[in-house]
Amino acid sequence: MSLNFGRTLLAIPGPSVIPERVLAAMHRPSPNIYEGELIELTASLFPDLKAVARTDADVAIYIANGHGAWEAALKNTLHRGDKVLVLATGLFGMGWAELAGTLELEVQVLDFGNQRDADPDRLEEVLRADAERKIKAVMTVHTDTATSVRNDIPALRQAITNSGHDALFLVDCIASLGCERFEMDDWGVDVMVAACQKGLMTPAGLSFVYFNGKAAEAQKRCKPGYYWNWHPRTNPEIYYQQFAGTAPTHHLYGLREALTMLVHEEGIEAAWARHRTIAHAIWAAVEAWGDGGTMRLNIADPAKRSLAVSAIGTGEGEAGRIRRWCENEAGVTLGIGLGFGRPGTPEGDRNFRIGHMGHQNVAMVLGALGAIDTAMKAQGIAHGDGALAAATTVLAKHGQR
Ligand SMILES: *Cc1c(COP(=O)(O)O)cnc(C)c1O
Repeated sequence: MSLNFGRTLLAIPGPSVIPERVLAAMHRPSPNIYEGELIELTASLFPDLKAVARTDADVAIYIANGHGAWEAALKNTLHRGDKVLVLATGLFGMGWAELAGTLELEVQVLDFGNQRDADPDRLEEVLRADAERKIKAVMTVHTDTATSVRNDIPALRQAITNSGHDALFLVDCIASLGCERFEMDDWGVDVMVAACQKGLMTPAGLSFVYFNGKAAEAQKRCKPGYYWNWHPRTNPEIYYQQFAGTAPTHHLYGLREALTMLVHEEGIEAAWARHRTIAHAIWAAVEAWGDGGTMRLNIADPAKRSLAVSAIGTGEGEAGRIRRWCENEAGVTLGIGLGFGRPGTPEGDRNFRIGHMGHQNVAMVLGALGAIDTAMKAQGIAHGDGALAAATTVLAKHGQR
């Protein structure tokens, strides 16, 4: 006997829920890739991709996941033996650092742990100490999806400027793009990487590297190789060069539809506001549960929390029991804890994540929260009451904050 019949809900922080309209746009035969509609459709994506990131910078599209964009960004801006400084605030910052090491870059990591954002003062100090200007790039993530911290990109930029250092500033917005404010040009970011399967609501398989004039200049001394070179992708003489081969045809149709929804129908500011309200509703629920149980948000300071994902700590084993009950009995899939110990072990089962990025509405948010509430009741896990009421109070005030 189970209650789990009906539509399932994916509440993991990527891949995110794909809108039916995006799926429908992809349901078609393969088009001509040399002439016609697809060429125009591809050209139409660039202004919208720039609008989402608030930039006039160039953007190259890769047939790759986020790791591909990570690699592309480094191969186009750095030379073997160059030194990079990574500000790590969770597993994703660490992952980018590890990848940099495999490209024979000299990697220095400033590790800020799993529960706080990167410290701009510390960054400034390290850059000032680099009198020989060995550090060629500072790398960080906007939202670290493992810890759900949001780094203060303008403050980090200010630290670089204050230090007088000329290192490039590379930022990973894979989890945050389309979900919360990111102003590439105003914030002085030189290179930004993103992927399509989180806030951009498209099946995994496309990623993006945005780069400004300073980064384009830096590329001239690099050897990005054939496939990762961003130059032909942004300046194709013939369409075939734009993707270094066959275009990702169906993904382009899907992305077109997703960007129409995000940029032209909802509007990017409205989408950010929606994510803000939804995130606050989830935090209100978690705080209510914690008042009478072990549950707590991984990032204590609301101003430092991501609006796209929430990492949540619990008592030993509880996160695993909640997740499994939600998946098996409620049809709701929650995210595993990442970077806190392996899921299935006592340490790993003390954390889980709720993804609230992209195609999300009130029904979906309350569905996920309601399933978690039910899971704790069904399994006798201690928790405070009133979580759903706390969430609906926040949702009801959307537009008023
Ligand atoms: C998801 C994610 C990645 C990795 O993207 P993949 O598509 O899985 O390679 C990197 N950084 C952040 C911040 C992410 O959220």
